Amino acid sequence: MQATRVAVVGGGLGGLTAAALLARGGCEVTLYERAKHFGGRAQTADVEGFRFNLGPHALYRGGAAMRVLGGLGVKPKGGIPGGTGTYALRAGRLHTLPRGPVSLMTTDVLTLAGKLELARLLAGLPRLDAGALARTSTREWLDTRLSREDTRAFVGALTRVSSYCADHDAMSAEVAVSQLQYALAANVLYVDGGWSTLVDALEARAREAGAKLETSMRVESVVFHEPAPGARVRGLRLADGTVHEADVVVLAGGPDDVAALVPGDAVLAKEASEAVPVMAASLELGMSRLPRPEALFALGVDGPWYASVHSASARLAPEGGAMVHVMKYLGGTDTGASEAELEAVMDVLQPGWRAHVVAKRFRPTLRVNHLLPSAKSGGLSGRPTARVPHVEGLYRVGDWVGPEGMLADASFASAESVARALLVSEQVEPRRAVGA
Ligand SMILES: Cc1cc2nc3c(=O)[nH]c(=O)nc-3n(C[C@H](O)[C@H](O)[C@H](O)COP(=O)(O)OP(=O)(O)OC[C@H]3O[C@@H](n4cnc5c(N)ncnc54)[C@H](O)[C@@H]3O)c2cc1C
Repeated sequence: MQATRVAVVGGGLGGLTAAALLARGGCEVTLYERAKHFGGRAQTADVEGFRFNLGPHALYRGGAAMRVLGGLGVKPKGGIPGGTGTYALRAGRLHTLPRGPVSLMTTDVLTLAGKLELARLLAGLPRLDAGALARTSTREWLDTRLSREDTRAFVGALTRVSSYCADHDAMSAEVAVSQLQYALAANVLYVDGGWSTLVDALEARAREAGAKLETSMRVESVVFHEPAPGARVRGLRLADGTVHEADVVVLAGGPDDVAALVPGDAVLAKEASEAVPVMAASLELGMSRLPRPEALFALGVDGPWYASVHSASARLAPEGGAMVHVMKYLGGTDTGASEAELEAVMDVLQPGWRAHVVAKRFRPTLRVNHLLPSAKSGGLSGRPTARVPHVEGLYRVGDWVGPEGMLADASFASAESVARALLVSEQVEPRRAVGA
């Protein structure tokens, strides 16, 4: 039987995963990435020996990324953060971060009534049906579920750190609850060497399975057998004008990229124009040493800030040094941050830090997630489906696609769902089972 020819556009985590799974399943896969390197937003820069991810990156240990990577034989190495040295940041001061019964008793970030309310919420959280809250906003959920302002502020902070979203008026409570469930059940992993190690492993798996992977190759558009909507895809037109013939096309960029690749498609253009992204400001610091080695994490309770010494859990800094991520979650009317605002967080966590800076990188706006799943659009299930329903042979993959997970988990889950759909519907004879 002739192998299904699949062309993938985009060599981030989603595109590489789709390529690896489909090539393993017997498809003839070619992937095009316009940048010089694979990885997209999962890139890691080496600055003076410090491994800078593009802002703070953590893998949810119970999420789709770990499941799919495991299925491909990739076992991310690293460390689990959050032992000692974790603080809540409020009114410019550090407070004990409630993480268990003892810290909950001793912290002064909550009143006694607030502590009891928090304990009740967390005890019932694993049994909450997140899907039932898809059309409820996070703000509405916090307001109706919690009676105390201090508890709401604290749970709001936990929600920000587990979802990366600060716009609680828009965000579906399904996202808030499911991300809290993931974070509390199995925590996260900071990856040794940074997320580019995941990219390298996926690239290797895809090549081993026979996929052809090209960098520095921008795809211009999808081409069709018929020009009208409803037609079946014929392949891709590359920036150099050549046409790559394919039976199936998988688009693994953002909603804007997808709309640009199918010009004139009103449905895809509308989806792109309606997609509100999740944004953040990021400060990355490589330091010769920490002035307060015992202070490793701060979470803003009265503001959307985060600071974490990632090198305390994973290998990301030269011997004796420290790699710190500071971030502000953006959203709603709060659309930016100055470098000084993020530095002020470090002034509280690590007073005197400036004297020890070896490398520094500030990014005022980074696109964390292409789409904020809103209550208005029906939460996670309201996101666009992996299969483009009105175009035969056209699929998409990314952190804005499909009903499972947020952030990279959604990219992995959507790649997996495309592979499942194709390996069944195209009746490809598997060379090796997907996920084996
Ligand atoms: C600050 C920050 C913090 C984050 N923290 C976390 C975290 O803690 N946990 C987590 O799970 N996720 C996190 N993420 C999100 C995570 O990085 C992304 O969800 C994931 O990397 C997305 O992968 P992707 O392959 O879907 O998309 P991308 O990485 O965006 O890849 C898409 C690729 O498609 C290529 N492309 C697009 N159009 C074309 C074209 N026409 N021709 C050729 N190539 C094209 C692009 O160049 C790009 O490389 C974070 C992101 C940021 C920015």
